[in-house]
Amino acid sequence: MRILLSNDDGYQSPGLLILAQHLVQFGSVTIVAPDRDRSGASNSLTLTRPLRAHELGNGHYYVEGTPTDCVHLAITGLLDEEPDLVIAGINHGPNLGDDVLYSGTVAAATEGRFLGLPAMAISIASHEPKYLETAAQVTAKLVASLDAEALGSNLILNVNVPDVPFGQLAGMQATRLGHRHKAEPVTKAQDPRGRTIYWVGPAGAEADAGPGTDFHALRQGFVSVTPLQVDLTRHGLLEPLSEWLEACA
Ligand code: MN
Repeated sequence: MRILLSNDDGYQSPGLLILAQHLVQFGSVTIVAPDRDRSGASNSLTLTRPLRAHELGNGHYYVEGTPTDCVHLAITGLLDEEPDLVIAGINHGPNLGDDVLYSGTVAAATEGRFLGLPAMAISIASHEPKYLETAAQVTAKLVASLDAEALGSNLILNVNVPDVPFGQLAGMQATRLGHRHKAEPVTKAQDPRGRTIYWVGPAGAEADAGPGTDFHALRQGFVSVTPLQVDLTRHGLLEPLSEWLEACA
């Protein structure tokens, strides 16, 4: 199996490096990751300047670009052979509910959706994780039993792992994305020249976070696994919208 490994925390992130160590048992692992922290980069592509890929001397690369740039570049020309699977992570910090819209980790996985096996975004539920090993072991378990036929193609799995010792996990749960309240306000400050600057504030509190959601599973000590799709169409609105448009005309 050929695995492409990326992330949004940058190529030196401990989460990425520990995951690479745990994945080599499945075949070849190639890291193509951003040169620095690009958390929150979402699915952005760099179109206004060229991309440079720097080889690290061991077949791995870092790229002056976004997570999506990395995976896009890797599978459309940088690598000699197309990988079977893209894994992004381990992200330091959870990606739950609305977070997936902003997440560079999820975006890196999304960019691998056309490959043969389900793409996976792996996050650990702490920004200063103590048990990265747990998330790496969980990922290895998922990869070991991946069944492309049962899960279908173009599938993305969003995996969130509690930051606890492996033996303390309650199990794995299939979940749907919950929702958050509106984000916290921006923080206003002044730069050294007296000009106003803003820091984007933290994500909103949990809103829709009951049983069945990713928030809930994680809070109960489970590994949350959410199947994602890229189709943003609101299918249920097609018919009423079409009627409304006819009335409009
Ligand atoms: Mn990140």
